[in-house]
Amino acid sequence: MACPRPGALPNMVQCIKAAVVLKEKITGMSNEKINTVLSQKPLGLVLDIDGTLSPIAPTPEEARLYPGVVSLLERARDHAHVAIMTGRAIENGAAMVNVDGLTYIGTHGLEWCDGLPTLHPVEILPEALAYVEPGKYLLDLVEQHLPALPGVIVQRKRFGGSLHYRLSPDPEYTRQKIWSILEEPARQVNMSLSDGKRIVEVRVPLKVDKGQALRSFVQHFGLRGVVFAGDDRTDLDAVLEIARLRQEGIAALAIVVQHPDTLREMLANADIVVQGVEGMANLLREMVDLL
Ligand SMILES: [Mg+2]
Repeated sequence: MACPRPGALPNMVQCIKAAVVLKEKITGMSNEKINTVLSQKPLGLVLDIDGTLSPIAPTPEEARLYPGVVSLLERARDHAHVAIMTGRAIENGAAMVNVDGLTYIGTHGLEWCDGLPTLHPVEILPEALAYVEPGKYLLDLVEQHLPALPGVIVQRKRFGGSLHYRLSPDPEYTRQKIWSILEEPARQVNMSLSDGKRIVEVRVPLKVDKGQALRSFVQHFGLRGVVFAGDDRTDLDAVLEIARLRQEGIAALAIVVQHPDTLREMLANADIVVQGVEGMANLLREMVDLL
C-alpha cells in the first residue's frame, strides 16, 4: 500500500486504517472459506493473464506465463471449468496459454471460445461487428502519428486495440498526446477510450465488460462456486460481480493481485490480496492441490 509522506497526518491515519482493514481481510479469509468455495461442483476458475498469470513485460509480445502455471492449469482443468479472461484479442491471449480444454474469453468479453481458438470456433458478440472498421480507422490514425510518439506500440485487435506507452520516455505526456489525437475522432465514430496500466484502449461502446463475461461463464456451466483473479482496472467489474454472485447464493471468491500501482478500489473489494504474480502462482498451486 502506498502511504502518504510523513506530515500528511489525516491521510496517514486513513492509510494505516486501510492497511489494518486489508490485513484483516487477508487473514480473515480462512482456509475453511476457501475450501468451501473450492468444494462446490460445478466449480469455475476465471483468471486474467497480464499481471495475474504473467509478469508485466516491457512489450505485450515479451510477456510469458509464470513458470509452472501451465501445468497448474492443466491439473485444474480436470476438476473445474477454467476460463482465461483477458483484454487481449482472444487468439493472442490463447496463444500465450496454449492449453486446450479451457474457455478463452478475449477483448474484455467480446470473444469467447471453449477450447483453443486454433482448434475450436470463436463466438463473437454480433453487436460488436459494426465496430471493426471504426476501430481500424482510429488505430490507423495513431500509426500516422507514431513518429511523434516514440516508444508507443500499437496492438491491433478484432475491434479497436491497445496503445502501449510503457516504453515511451515521458509516459504521462504520451498518454495525454494519445488522448488528444483520438478523443474527438473516437467520439465521431462512436468508439470508447479508456486507460489501463500504461495503455490506452480503443474499445467498442457496448456495455460489455469482464463482470458480464464472468456472469455468462457462471451461467453457461451452471456453476455453484467460482473464483476470479485479476489485477487491473478492467478486472474491477469482475471483482464487483463476484460480490453480486455471492448475494445470489453462489460460493464466490475474488483474488486481487497487488502491484505497486494497484487501484485502491480493487484492494478494498478483494476477498484475498496476493503479492505480485509470484504470490498468485503460489496461491493457484495451493488451490489446485485442494481440488
Ligand atoms: Mg491484468
